[in-house]
Amino acid sequence: MPTSLTPDYRQVAADPNRLDALERLGILDTPGEMVFDRVAALIKLIFGVEIGIVSMIDAHRQWYKAVDGLENTEVSLDSTFCKDTLQLGRPLIVPDASQDERFFDNAHVTGGPKVRFYASAPIMTGDGLTIGTVCAIDGTAREFSERDTAILTHLAAIVMHELELQQEASTDVLTGARSRRAFQDEAVKHLALAIRYAAPLSCIAFDIDHFKQVNDTYGHAAGDRVLASVAKALKDGLRESDLVGRVGGEEFAIILPRTEHKAAMATAEKLRAIVKALDFPGTFPPIAVTASFGVSTIGEGDDLDTLLERADQMLYVAKRSGRNQVCGSDAPTEPPKPNRRRVLKAGQVIFDGGRSTYDCTIRSLWDGGAEFAVSLPMIVPDEFELVIKGTAERHACTLSKRSATSLEATFAA
Ligand code: GH3
Ligand code: MG
Ligand code: MG
Repeated sequence: MPTSLTPDYRQVAADPNRLDALERLGILDTPGEMVFDRVAALIKLIFGVEIGIVSMIDAHRQWYKAVDGLENTEVSLDSTFCKDTLQLGRPLIVPDASQDERFFDNAHVTGGPKVRFYASAPIMTGDGLTIGTVCAIDGTAREFSERDTAILTHLAAIVMHELELQQEASTDVLTGARSRRAFQDEAVKHLALAIRYAAPLSCIAFDIDHFKQVNDTYGHAAGDRVLASVAKALKDGLRESDLVGRVGGEEFAIILPRTEHKAAMATAEKLRAIVKALDFPGTFPPIAVTASFGVSTIGEGDDLDTLLERADQMLYVAKRSGRNQVCGSDAPTEPPKPNRRRVLKAGQVIFDGGRSTYDCTIRSLWDGGAEFAVSLPMIVPDEFELVIKGTAERHACTLSKRSATSLEATFAA
């Protein structure tokens, strides 16, 4: 019997470092993007295959960031070829799956798209963690040269590079905040995630009061320094996970993920006090700045534009009401879960007295419950056990919510 030096793919899939890297990139379940669609299209064109895929792999599934030639957008990791690429951490070429002892009886070979040819390369972080794959798939057996493998590997590296670039996103040099474009791109993703996870999200629009006077009195260079100080103070008063964009000259917008209206109002109030308390030594008469704030919170049917617009309207109200204040417009939202934390952790759902076990990805945890995703949500019964891998946590659970994409569990007391 051959001994394998590589760990089981389930172990690799559950690696917390790998899942952390994936979480940091914030790519899972985000809308399609042209650059990745192009890579999928290029795979088809360059190799003349039927299917091109750019995928990410979480704890239990392979999710397609871009796919050309297939309808579905995700598949259970157990049934994929890519779990072997994940395990190997290098390209995997299968010229004819029907003749390959690892894959001849795979459901995608015997049925479904009748896969014959498969080639994939890992999308790997600088630390050597595989977070996904690029793959070329066809219904006809074929060869794949070393040159082809090199091209596929380069495409995987381009995807990784693009993910990192997006992560660094373009920042405004003067203030260190995101540029308008980068802010919008990122904010759209935050919104998509909030909607998908039914999590609260708020927005603050912010504008410095009478800034023209600062320029007129102290000069443009001093105005620049004030802007930079205000932006820095803002950042210091916010969480790492909050998103700050410079959307106009002295106007900023902030997205507060997982933040309901009351907390967002309190945050804006804190920022207001921070800005008012700023001092700028060495100027005479001393520079004093204040700012006005508008706050909005995501509600049913909102998109980024409507959310920003409501925050802007509230900012206008704050200006009209005398400046140096916070105004907010609440929208109906689900009551937030207590201490809900977004995570990406590997887990296992167990039922039937331990006879049925399914890998899952835990997406949120809070006191007394969890939200998680499995590939076959229908089969999870009302009562089950949830194991959080890599920890000693094992909870008896009752199912509290079931949607097409995720399940919620309440832990037994
Ligand atoms: P309000 O309280 O109504 O917001 O008054 P305001 O004077 O701040 O409003 P307005 O929008 O009319 O003026 C904004 C000013 O901000 C005008 C512009 O010269 C200045 N400004 C915009 N960008 C910069 C910048 O990068 N540096 C400096 N120094 N000034 C800037
Ligand atoms: Mg202003
Ligand atoms: Mg302005």
